[in-house]
Amino acid sequence: MNRVKRRIIEIDEEKCTGCGQCIPECPEGAIQVIDGKARIISDLFYDGLGACVGSCPYGALKITERLSEPYDERKVMENIISKGDNTIRAHLKHLHGHGEKEYLKQALEYNCVL
Ligand code: SF4
Repeated sequence: MNRVKRRIIEIDEEKCTGCGQCIPECPEGAIQVIDGKARIISDLFYDGLGACVGSCPYGALKITERLSEPYDERKVMENIISKGDNTIRAHLKHLHGHGEKEYLKQALEYNCVL
């Protein structure tokens, strides 16, 4: 897959306590706490909108620009579908709130084919 330079989250491991407060702020499922630290499990799931940044009480999250795999709405939906309706709703609300009409359309189309 072609990598592109785009906005993506950066996690400062020194500052991260693994408290998990950022996890609910990322309904796309891009972040998980693994071995006591927040980790991006796949760039494909990170939309670059920065919704999680303000949720970290320790200032461990910031937006940066780097080469990354492009965000993939279909992969996000595949990833979150098993997490239930509330997670899907939070994700759709997040897309709507940021005016991401194309991703919202893709998400709704994905949901319709299930
Ligand atoms: S909220 Fe901050 S400190 Fe807590 S897990 Fe997330 S990045 Fe780490």
